[in-house]
Amino acid sequence: MLKQLLISEAYKAYRALARAPFGAEPFEPNENDFIEIHLGEVYCRVKVGDELCGNALQSRGALVNHVKKHHTDIKVLASESTGNPSMAKISAARIWYSAVMKTHNEIASKKASQHDPNVPEPPLTPVVAARRLLSLFRSRSQQVLNDLRSLPSRRQTRRRVKLLAMLTTAGQPV
Ligand SMILES: [Zn+2]
Repeated sequence: MLKQLLISEAYKAYRALARAPFGAEPFEPNENDFIEIHLGEVYCRVKVGDELCGNALQSRGALVNHVKKHHTDIKVLASESTGNPSMAKISAARIWYSAVMKTHNEIASKKASQHDPNVPEPPLTPVVAARRLLSLFRSRSQQVLNDLRSLPSRRQTRRRVKLLAMLTTAGQPV
């Protein structure tokens, strides 16, 4: 199931979020009152008060179990029967992830441009955290390199030490 979805950049970005995307709609019950959980969906979209539950699960199956266990008033169908999902289902899911990530990115860039300290940033994914650490390390080591370059050369230092010694000796009482 995931293999066919992982071709999708939108789906990969969705999985990298580690939280429900910004602006995601709550699960929609169908005509039989069952909610539909998309292929590969891993973040809980049950409405809790004014926001989404947002719990992150490891797989769609785990999400189904989470909804059954923690949101007992919600009707959810059992996990997909075994076998490969139809192309139509995969396409429908890909279209859904594209739309969801488009909305998420729009809201995220708005939030970023506002720089509102009261809006907490979404938690960093390990990849993003590692990248930030690496760039911090690079800028620090560049600074250390520059400091080293600005140091006087060895010969200059030796000359200075000699000069200083001479001055000190000259100043001392005989
Ligand atoms: Zn939930």
